[in-house]
Amino acid sequence: MPVKPDELWGVLDENPEAVVYAGGTDLLVKLRSQHAKPACLICLERLDDFKGITTEGDEIFIGALTTHREMVGDPIVVRDLRLMATATKSLGSPPVRNMGTLAGNIVTASPAGDTLAPLYVLNAQLEIRSRSATRRAPIESFILGPGKVDLNHGEIVSRIIVSKSPKFGVHHYEKVGRRDSLACAVVSMAALVNVTDDNIISKIRLAWGSVGPTIMRFRSVESFLEGKALSIKGLSEAVRLVKESVHPIDDLRASSSYRREVAGRLLLRLIGYTPCI
Ligand SMILES: Cc1cc2nc3c(=O)[nH]c(=O)nc-3n(C[C@H](O)[C@H](O)[C@H](O)COP(=O)(O)OP(=O)(O)OC[C@H]3O[C@@H](n4cnc5c(N)ncnc54)[C@H](O)[C@@H]3O)c2cc1C
Repeated sequence: MPVKPDELWGVLDENPEAVVYAGGTDLLVKLRSQHAKPACLICLERLDDFKGITTEGDEIFIGALTTHREMVGDPIVVRDLRLMATATKSLGSPPVRNMGTLAGNIVTASPAGDTLAPLYVLNAQLEIRSRSATRRAPIESFILGPGKVDLNHGEIVSRIIVSKSPKFGVHHYEKVGRRDSLACAVVSMAALVNVTDDNIISKIRLAWGSVGPTIMRFRSVESFLEGKALSIKGLSEAVRLVKESVHPIDDLRASSSYRREVAGRLLLRLIGYTPCI
């Protein structure tokens, strides 16, 4: 098990078929159920260089191997990334949050992944490292489809980077599932909103989970809402636009028409929010 990045690059070079894992809460379950056996598995768990949450200037750096439990309790996350704290609390169960990591949730690239919609509205960037290079990619271009990401062999996600500005008064994440805990999102929505003293939306970012092949953000809905009142009247036309824009599928957990309806109506939850800065 590599402990230092140089050891990791070495094992990756020697094993071109190798697959990395962190908490194993997605990968090991898949390996068992699909009876697939990669030629070599590399555990990242002991690489301390890719752990911890720090802040520098206007940016927050979250180590790829940060577990969900560490995220929920971290003072920087609690103060500056309330949205992430809320979403992460809704993920899985205590044992899953103890083992599962932020990068694991991202690279799994499930449209139901609980940290993803928040990371989309936060315009998060991923730092991707290999032996010879470090690059940054916006999360929206990194995730290509269900289970598909822009990552080459020899590269790993090393950090997740989020800017502290602009600041938003309202941080909202809601997940609709078949039950409150240990359930995948049937539909989820993350929102960051600023509202003026007279209740007008001055800035809004919105993203939905489980209503398409990847997390969906509709810039047209965001621009439509800016300048409108945060009220039923102000939001009702946007509810219609969202229902027209999403591309949900029917599956065991819900029908596409139910998902479409819920995706629109989740917007109405923003009414009555008290902003806190
Ligand atoms: C019972 C149960 C309940 C769950 N509930 C939820 C839930 O409610 N919401 C939710 O979103 N998820 C849920 N999950 C899924 C899972 O727990 C999360 O997606 C978790 O964040 C995965 O992290 P991990 O470290 O365990 O990933 P792993 O299983 O270790 O890895 C997952 C994928 O990411 C890759 N990977 C991991 N780390 C890196 C890295 N640093 N760089 C490059 N690639 C990397 C691996 O190669 C693999 O493809 C649940 C899982 C279980 C078993």
